[in-house]
Amino acid sequence: MAGNFVDIVKIYIQSGKGGDGSVSFHREKFVAAGGPDGGDGGRGGSVVFVADDNLSTLLDFRYKRKYQAQDGEKGGAGRCTGKNAPDLVIRVPRGTLVKDAETGRIMADISGDEPVVLARGGKGGWGNVHFASPTRQIPKFAKPGLPGEGRWVWLELKLIADVGLIGFPNVGKSTLISVLSAAKPKIANYHFTTLTPVLGVVKVGPEQSFVAADIPGLIEGASEGVGLGHDFLRHVERCRLLLHLVDVSGSEGRDPIEDFETINRELEKFSPELAARPQILLANKCDAATPEQIEAVRAFAQEKGYLFRAISAATRQGLEELPGLIWNQLQQLPPVPQFQPEFLPPEPQAGEGRAFTITHPEPHVFEVEAPWLERILAGSDVEDYESLQYFQRQLGESGILDELVRQGVEEEDTIRIGEYEFDYIF
Ligand code: GDP
Ligand code: MG
Repeated sequence: MAGNFVDIVKIYIQSGKGGDGSVSFHREKFVAAGGPDGGDGGRGGSVVFVADDNLSTLLDFRYKRKYQAQDGEKGGAGRCTGKNAPDLVIRVPRGTLVKDAETGRIMADISGDEPVVLARGGKGGWGNVHFASPTRQIPKFAKPGLPGEGRWVWLELKLIADVGLIGFPNVGKSTLISVLSAAKPKIANYHFTTLTPVLGVVKVGPEQSFVAADIPGLIEGASEGVGLGHDFLRHVERCRLLLHLVDVSGSEGRDPIEDFETINRELEKFSPELAARPQILLANKCDAATPEQIEAVRAFAQEKGYLFRAISAATRQGLEELPGLIWNQLQQLPPVPQFQPEFLPPEPQAGEGRAFTITHPEPHVFEVEAPWLERILAGSDVEDYESLQYFQRQLGESGILDELVRQGVEEEDTIRIGEYEFDYIF
């Protein structure tokens, strides 16, 4: 059982600078020099994070990295206060962790309903109206607005699938997930080349995406009495919809309708909750099936009240409208029980004793020599989220990541650590 369960992106957030105070003097006819009347600058916009239950991935942040709130307006003459800039509201899936990219410190856990300010807008400066005093009648100065705050942050989200794929082995689940997926979610920021992804992020529109998970191990493992699955179940517990694939061509000499019912019985045994989720019956491999075979399954679906589509993951027949169909179904389903992140990362450790050397033996390959890190890797379960978190933290804190960047590492370059190999993903 393997998978990429964490979506992670790095973005830059910058709050707005406060508007400068104004230096201005009251002018009237026949009045030689009026009093100071320069107004205050407006507050710069803050960067605010809000949990949005309609989002389930960080996909959109891959396309836009910099988020800058507006600056406050300058103060004006006649005691006119500059306008405060609006806050820049960033909507993220519930459960997103925001970490300072420099220190790795968790700055916020966007799980509640309250907006969280992560970069405060600069205060506006005072206009010179504030600076008139009996001894300083003509103040020629005002205060500039205070600068905003800017920082790189990691957004990190444990991916929880909205949609689960079930079906017998070889019906085409992996093929389907790979052709539907817009982006491979990464394990932390490293893709473990040895592992096959079982989660896929499916993009429907500019701000619409969902996560689909292949649940084969769960079914197969469960029926064999192997203790697999319970870990994985965490990642599919939020599935609101199941795509139940059958091989409509019967290419392996099996009967698709019998298969469908067998899988549902297994699912019921394994997790009555999951078994209660609505299903779409997908008759896959219709490129290899006769019209009669497809009709038989269609009639069965109709009789039992299942939504039905004949598709071919291989030729992509019927796939164009599938993401939209799934999306529409998801919109009609009740919200999932609120997701609470279970993982609290360990506290950062002192950066001592974590020496390393990095060599660059060939283009796009970096070798990290760090026996202490190999020990961590050897002792960790690379398929386990918590272990990966810990590993990733070590990379950051020891300075290895910074050094890789300094040496010019590029997206998808290979990083070798002892006998392990990763792709570097920014
Ligand atoms: P999984 O075990 O359910 O994940 O199935 P896979 O995705 O690994 O597919 C099993 C086999 O069926 C592979 O050889 C695929 O190439 C093939 N396959 C998947 N989808 C189709 C399809 O639509 N038509 C045909 N003819 N073969 C398919
Ligand atoms: Mg598979």
